Amino acid sequence: MPDVFADLVGQDEAVTELRRAAAAAAAVLRAGATDRTPALVAPGEAAPAPAAGAPDPAAGMTHAWIFTGPPGSGRSVAARAFAAALQCAYGTGCGECPGCHTTMGGTNADVRMVVPEGLSIGVGEMRALVLRAASTPSGGRWQVVVIEDADRLTEAAGNALLKAIEEPPPRTVFLLCAPSTHPDDISVTIRSRCRVVPLRQPPATAVAEVLVRRDGIAPDVAQWAAAAAQGHVGRARRLARDPEARKRREAVLAVPRRLTGVGAAFDAASALIEAAEAEAEASVAEADAAERAALETALGAGGTGRGAAGAIRGAAGQLKDLEKRQKSRATRAQRDALDRALVDLAGFYRDALTMALRAPVDPVHTDTAALAGAGAQKWDAEGSLRRLEAVLACRAAIDANVKPRIAVEAMMLALWKG
Ligand SMILES: [Zn+2]
Repeated sequence: MPDVFADLVGQDEAVTELRRAAAAAAAVLRAGATDRTPALVAPGEAAPAPAAGAPDPAAGMTHAWIFTGPPGSGRSVAARAFAAALQCAYGTGCGECPGCHTTMGGTNADVRMVVPEGLSIGVGEMRALVLRAASTPSGGRWQVVVIEDADRLTEAAGNALLKAIEEPPPRTVFLLCAPSTHPDDISVTIRSRCRVVPLRQPPATAVAEVLVRRDGIAPDVAQWAAAAAQGHVGRARRLARDPEARKRREAVLAVPRRLTGVGAAFDAASALIEAAEAEAEASVAEADAAERAALETALGAGGTGRGAAGAIRGAAGQLKDLEKRQKSRATRAQRDALDRALVDLAGFYRDALTMALRAPVDPVHTDTAALAGAGAQKWDAEGSLRRLEAVLACRAAIDANVKPRIAVEAMMLALWKG
């Protein structure tokens, strides 16, 4: 198995920093073992002066981190790899030892990955998490809490987390993932307590390379998928492997051609929304059914023995709870699917714009480059830019909780009128 950082595509600077921190963390543990426990240094604090001649073992390591970067840049991949390096017996993230293996496989008792299923992470969930994170690591190294989509914390949950970050237990490390450190994503106070690891959008060549090496995808397919996915590694893999995903993308890229009038614009809006709903339903249906079956089994539904009726009465509340969580997950899956479609569409108008400007850059969608070229001639740079802005405005509106159908209809009309 390669090193735990191997899948972090095109992020050399971040990897260097994380390796250094993992080595420092291992030094902290070694120093602790010989009873010279050095304190970790929080950002914004001056590092304590190292003993004369000795390098400070805690430099480079801290209790709280934020991984930022655009979707698909590998925020959670980076956080998980760093967690593995912290649990690694050699402090390097060797990929071979039990600490590395269990962390990468999601079974390490001292690493908790929090993946919000709904649209936000609630305060109850966060309090329970903070409480558990304060316990002594069973493996003798670190308690690591990874919070994916930390931008989806509710305010109250953020406050509960802040308290833990402000007074961290000595062996606890928090790894947060968020699109950016903008106050909309992460509160300023949490930000001020964390070290930030910025990840960039990986170049298409690096994404293609990893698809070939890790997933065994043919080089020409990998190259096409990497460009079409605009630096999103997971999306590139799906495009390369899943014919359904390719079909959905083609349908989205057919939109510009279909906008021939007001009626067609509304039809295109309906088609886009319905495609996103269908995609989301497919992606959560299996998990929904499995969860429901598991809960029903646990509650004894279907049983005929004495007590089964009472169990079912008590179960109604739990089933209702599950349905609520599933509904919230479905809403999020729908938004994510719609957002992917909008990103594809934005890529098309971006191609038209760069062609109208004769910019020396490669198109995002090589397979619709001719169509984008025709658009560029017809609309010119200004018209292409207006259309690109209409797509971006639609994303922003949905992000600001405008009903998706309304935002998409407005966008389609703007795309048609130019
Ligand atoms: Zn290891």
